[in-house]
Amino acid sequence: MKRIITLLMIFSSVIFSKEIKDIDELSKLLIYTKNSCSKNNVDGCVENIKLKGGSMIDRMVDNIKWLGHASIMIKVDDKNIFIDPWKIKEIKDKADIILITHSHFDHYSEEDIKKVAKVDSVIYGPEDVISKTSLKNKKVLKPYDEIKSGNINIKAFPAYNLNKNFHPKENKWLGYIIEYNGVSIYIAGDTDFIPEMRELKVNIVILPVGGTYTMNAKESANFTNTIKPDVAIPIHWGDIVGSKKDVDEFIKNVKKPTKVVLK
Ligand SMILES: [Zn+2]
Repeated sequence: MKRIITLLMIFSSVIFSKEIKDIDELSKLLIYTKNSCSKNNVDGCVENIKLKGGSMIDRMVDNIKWLGHASIMIKVDDKNIFIDPWKIKEIKDKADIILITHSHFDHYSEEDIKKVAKVDSVIYGPEDVISKTSLKNKKVLKPYDEIKSGNINIKAFPAYNLNKNFHPKENKWLGYIIEYNGVSIYIAGDTDFIPEMRELKVNIVILPVGGTYTMNAKESANFTNTIKPDVAIPIHWGDIVGSKKDVDEFIKNVKKPTKVVLK
């Protein structure tokens, strides 16, 4: 009898610890849903949304840092990837990889690249950026070029304007798709909703919403609703162009199953 009771105790403690783990994961999911959706009870912000592949996507979203405007840092597989570093203050984690989308001053800043770079950082970007940068380890990427860094896959993607002339297609400027462990992140760069983007199948999208030079909030929401990623993160606002109003407009227009996460 004693043995049966001991066995029962062990069994119930295993179940209990499993429950705790699940509750932990659930509360983590709810925390960032609450953060991003507290003021906006709309489609894009439904709580308890079920994400494809679950926690791997959550973890990747957690590892994305918005450094203001279009400046992003993502920790992937213990590597620090910076995209368009700009107005960098103090940075503890230096870059393993730097991705530049195009040569406009708010995306390509040699001063900020130097702040995030270490001796062995590698920088990738379009021709007009890579020809100017002082970093030694550098490589030009054209749309659809792919590189591999350990287990991380990085694909260059076209980015250009359709109804304005700030980012002409012939410049071969870029967005990027980062893939790791079955999770993909698309960083659109300064682009309109170009036909190539209709074919994208990605988990996380990082999009401009400020308008004027890029897609505006409604156009970015329209793109999001077309390809239905798990998570959408609005950027390119709060400096130069775009305000909280644009972010609210984006959230209002994004439909299920996509969840908008503010960084
Ligand atoms: Zn630009």
